[in-house]
Amino acid sequence: MKLPEHIALSFLLAQFGVQQQHGPLGTALVIVAGCLPDLDGLGIVLSWKFYRRYHRILGHGLPLTCGGPLLLALFGSSFLGAEALGPLWLWCQVSLFLHLFTDVAFYNWPVQLLWPLSRRGAAFDLIGWNDLTPTLILYAGCLGAAFWPAASAAVGVAAFFLYLGWRALRQAPAVGWAGWLAGGWAVGVHPVWRWLTGDFIS
Ligand SMILES: [Zn+2]
Repeated sequence: MKLPEHIALSFLLAQFGVQQQHGPLGTALVIVAGCLPDLDGLGIVLSWKFYRRYHRILGHGLPLTCGGPLLLALFGSSFLGAEALGPLWLWCQVSLFLHLFTDVAFYNWPVQLLWPLSRRGAAFDLIGWNDLTPTLILYAGCLGAAFWPAASAAVGVAAFFLYLGWRALRQAPAVGWAGWLAGGWAVGVHPVWRWLTGDFIS
């Protein structure tokens, strides 16, 4: 997924208890964990070539997956108390795993989950680059979470995974209502819809 979608999904995840137990700092840490792998996307500042060569590799491999959430939880527990370490570590780890899972599920852009032990990439390519339906589901969930945090997060996350499950069964539908829902409606619409996903380039 793209960065704003990772932020939205992590925010929804935090509504299942972290926000209630650890407040805004807990939520912020879960969001950071959910975005952490995309640190390797900062290479775009250096050059497009660097970005294409290392994005979905350096930050999506074993070192950050194993160490990142623990470091975030240690940081958080220094403010929230030692008893927060375990729960924060767990939620940050789940948030990071969700990032990796959605990256693998979306697009045909392999993610090297076992780097540096293996350069093998995984990509299910269930969702097209400009399929904005999951984006809108996540954003609607976040909007609803302002009023009903846990309930809206549950509905949003459930709808998101139902859509992913449906796309796993119906891959790349091009015609009819399925084709329309799976991205057809976004073809030719104003670019502002793509901007919502953080895509200002394609
Ligand atoms: Zn990523």
